[in-house]
Amino acid sequence: MLLILGLLLGLLLNTFWASKERPNGSTIPKVPISEQAVRHFSEALKLKTISYMDYGIDSSEYLAFNDWLELSYPSITNQLSHTVISDFSHIYHWEGKDQSQDPIMLYAHLDVVQVIDNEKEHWQYDPWQGQVANDTIWGRGALDDKVAVLGILEAVNYCIANNIKPRRDIYFCFGHDEEVGGNYGARKIAEYFKNNGIRMAYALDEGLTITENLVPNVDKQVSLIGIAQKGYCSVELSTRIDGGHSSMPSSETSIDVISNALSELNKKGLPSRLTSPVEQMLATIAPEMPFFQRVILSNKWLFGRIIKNSYEGSNVGNASIRTTTAATIFTSGQQENIIPEQASATLNFRLLQGDTEKTILDHIKKVINDDRIEISVIGKTTPASNIADTNSEFYQKVEQSILDVFPSTIVSPGLVMAGTDAKHFMDVCEETLYFRPMIMHPKNLHTIHGINERIAIEEYKDFIRFYIRLIELN
Ligand SMILES: [Zn+2]
Repeated sequence: MLLILGLLLGLLLNTFWASKERPNGSTIPKVPISEQAVRHFSEALKLKTISYMDYGIDSSEYLAFNDWLELSYPSITNQLSHTVISDFSHIYHWEGKDQSQDPIMLYAHLDVVQVIDNEKEHWQYDPWQGQVANDTIWGRGALDDKVAVLGILEAVNYCIANNIKPRRDIYFCFGHDEEVGGNYGARKIAEYFKNNGIRMAYALDEGLTITENLVPNVDKQVSLIGIAQKGYCSVELSTRIDGGHSSMPSSETSIDVISNALSELNKKGLPSRLTSPVEQMLATIAPEMPFFQRVILSNKWLFGRIIKNSYEGSNVGNASIRTTTAATIFTSGQQENIIPEQASATLNFRLLQGDTEKTILDHIKKVINDDRIEISVIGKTTPASNIADTNSEFYQKVEQSILDVFPSTIVSPGLVMAGTDAKHFMDVCEETLYFRPMIMHPKNLHTIHGINERIAIEEYKDFIRFYIRLIELN
């Protein structure tokens, strides 16, 4: 009985400990954002800076974007040094008042994905017209990620006009091919920094956002600042077994061998675990949850298994707690009455912090346990990123900027599941945070890379205000 009482007391203490006060946004007045900012955004959305999967681009649209940049922001053109990389990517350098500290980088990508032909008719407004209608700006790139290129430019423009100068040096960098891997944009920008001995203390890239009704059991908006991104590794499994006429098949064909291997890998995933970004997120949002969930989340030592089980129940949750396995390509056979000799499949893994290429290869060998299958890594593996420190000066400033503009949101660290251009900056940047000050909810989530991508004008203005505040604080 005493033991049970002690246990209960421990649970409750942890629960109330988790209810501690969090920093609050000061009620600073909203700075006025001009209508010109909306016009600029609309104009930029008309330029089709599209990355196609075959790496083809329409260079005339990108060159038009370069010209438009120079003409639309004369004070930036005049006062900041500007370097063009690979013809279409941009580095702007703004010297701060204090040269003793390493610079920071605000990063965004200016390319967008295409609008698929048969989807175009479903858009409420033409995706390439930068339509401003119903207090909203419509078009491809309104959320991913041209909004950030424009938002950062407007913030710098505002700061220059209002004599606000950052303390540290700030680099504003805009890559032009993030949607197809960033090999000519971000990677070359990183090389430029390396070759010139420039090292960033911190960077801010895309990745997570303000969420509304997306974090289960939390009613308030949650601003998730990504503090790490998962890695990326693709592996091919292939086999060659005598084929022949399909009227007299052997008991196991090449297709059977590869499909069995895939089936085993699907059943036995890599082990799950709660890494620091997820643990920190749970600790931050637990106090906002109903009592029962709060008790569970505040007592991971006892309910760790329950928490992991509930995470495994959804795709997003599952991807947060393990290196995921996804079969993406299967190649074999050409004719219906011939058993093919060869079969192969590609698996794409997204690495959780702590797992490496070797972890994956060992796991595959152990699970499939079949010498007939050759296992090879495709391309270059991107390791999982390091984990940024939430006590750092930069994290605190990003958090403060969020709370100053969006005072009612909860700010929490989080893990970025997809890969962003920041993967190219691992050698030239100490720590990266992943956040965009835009509100994502179940109704607009699918518009990214989808139909009717748009942002409310007032939300775009807050987007700019966040970057103004961040520059002021730095
Ligand atoms: Zn993006």
